[in-house]
Amino acid sequence: MTMIPKQLKAVQARIHAACQAAGRADDSVTLLAVSKTFDADAVLAAFEAGQTAFGENYIQEAVQKITALRNLPLVWHCIGPIQSNKTRLVAEHFDWVHTVDRLKIAQRLSEQRPAHLSALQVCIQVNVDGGPTKSGVTPEDALALVQAVKALPRLQVRGLMCIPELATDCVAACALFKRARDLFDALNAEGLTLDTLSMGMSADLEAAIASGSTMVRVGSAIFGARHYPA
Ligand SMILES: *Cc1c(COP(=O)(O)O)cnc(C)c1O
Repeated sequence: MTMIPKQLKAVQARIHAACQAAGRADDSVTLLAVSKTFDADAVLAAFEAGQTAFGENYIQEAVQKITALRNLPLVWHCIGPIQSNKTRLVAEHFDWVHTVDRLKIAQRLSEQRPAHLSALQVCIQVNVDGGPTKSGVTPEDALALVQAVKALPRLQVRGLMCIPELATDCVAACALFKRARDLFDALNAEGLTLDTLSMGMSADLEAAIASGSTMVRVGSAIFGARHYPA
């Protein structure tokens, strides 16, 4: 028997409690169920329990599931790193991409987005820790990238995404998430109309919601521990 419905309910309860604690409405936070490494049956079990938005990291693996489940009204988010040679698959199969951090990738996604599909919804990934080897544009370069991506015809910029290192405590986690929220607010003050701030995972969704996240990406707390092939 699958634990997925019960675990999904528990995550929804955590989100509700975090929203209450922050004085926020429940519907100000969207739950993205991260189904990477889990099969189509696991996605189906979550869907039957009411979940419709799913996040995937590995493009090929995701395309198999998206194809197998194409008759269901699911919304698929790409949250993994994107190499140039994978942009076509992403443009053809996903509804959202959270991990755009270079104009070249955005241009390819726009060019390759099929005409019969609506615009690809995009978040710009920001490196809020400042780690030199990490993915993500620096906060200083975020405005220019958002503006350049906004000009592309087949993409719609929705907001920012970040993956801070797991902090040792809640105070440190909130400080990093707050940096992303401040940037998000600053960009909107420049006249951009961003509505999505994608941050927070199984271990730190409370800190993310307290800091102003609008979308949490939760995998293991819903689907269980991941087992990667050796
Ligand atoms: C795997 C992953 C998640 C989910 O992580 P959990 O700790 O299992 O909740 C969220 N965001 C990204 C970018 C991921 O790669």
